[in-house]
Amino acid sequence: MARPIRARLDWSALRHNHNVVRRHVGSARVWSVVKADAYGHGLLPAARALIEATDGYALVELEGAVALRDAGITHPILMLEGFYQADELPLYAELELTPVLHTAWQVDALVEACLPIRLPVYLKLNTGMNRLGFNHDEFAAMLARLVAADCIASVTLMTHFADADEARGIQQQLENFRAMAGGRELPVSLANSAALLRFPEAIGDWVRPGIMLYGASPFPAMQSAAELDLHPVMTLESELIAVRELAPGDAIGYGSSFVAEKAMRVGVVACGYGDGYPRHAPTGTPVQVAGQRTRTLGRVSMDKICVDLSELPSTVGVGATVTLWGGAGDMHLSADDVATAAGTVAYEMFCALAARVPIIDV
Ligand code: PLP
Repeated sequence: MARPIRARLDWSALRHNHNVVRRHVGSARVWSVVKADAYGHGLLPAARALIEATDGYALVELEGAVALRDAGITHPILMLEGFYQADELPLYAELELTPVLHTAWQVDALVEACLPIRLPVYLKLNTGMNRLGFNHDEFAAMLARLVAADCIASVTLMTHFADADEARGIQQQLENFRAMAGGRELPVSLANSAALLRFPEAIGDWVRPGIMLYGASPFPAMQSAAELDLHPVMTLESELIAVRELAPGDAIGYGSSFVAEKAMRVGVVACGYGDGYPRHAPTGTPVQVAGQRTRTLGRVSMDKICVDLSELPSTVGVGATVTLWGGAGDMHLSADDVATAAGTVAYEMFCALAARVPIIDV
């Protein structure tokens, strides 16, 4: 018998969430962000699920771009960090990839590469995140160098927001962007999930949603995924593999961090940090057992977590289905709620899904 854990991946939910993006962005085009193996969901199945819906794919891994092209996908591909070494450029030309240029050596390398085709490029402006991109004083010279070299098909100006859930920060970055791009008739790409949902003025020509495609909220403290009409793509599901009674004073699991104050019924779930469940999820993290919400107890171990069955019917026993996150109807549990309790974000939980968890495509 296989260990009773699985991740169900609902590709119709991914398409639904892409439609939600469309509803918000009108005629703007959509880069579906599929880096980190489509946020842990699987690059190729995610890309295939969106093939009719999306305008292009954005990622950072060159191997991922090769895999997309090998799979016959001909959509534009945006490389969000561009190339890491100049010797990747012939492959960029062969695969017709769009690099983001964020640093001077990349501009030099492209200008000097004499590629057989002209590539479209994205020029990244640093408007306040201070991670990647050209500052105000550098950007005009970079653009002029690219244009003069006559080696590119088109330039799109892009930036990335540091606090897309924080109105003042985004306004400031937008103002900085406008001051830099000022008056130039070039296409722009600004918005990630949070920005496209909250700031219509940041939508521009191309948007770059990631997390909302996978059904989590980019600002869970303000609006839930359900309120945004986003459906979970990933459901992490397991079963109770043991049930035991605790007497007052009994402790649970490593470190004995949870001690029962009264008699309790406890379930043991075949899921742990070795499956991608967040190890730092404390006692009280929500979990759904047989359609009812309850809480975890004690420390998360590699293969197991313990859950409180005290308030659940005594018929809930070994073999009961446990939703760790995702699901629908009365089995639904928001990944954002779990992430918040565990002091992390749904992005990290999805990306952490372990290779040993079998995938079921639905
Ligand atoms: N654009 C860039 C440059 C990114 O790095 C990312 C993700 O980190 C995104 C867009 C997508 O962001 P989100 O998943 O918050 O929508």
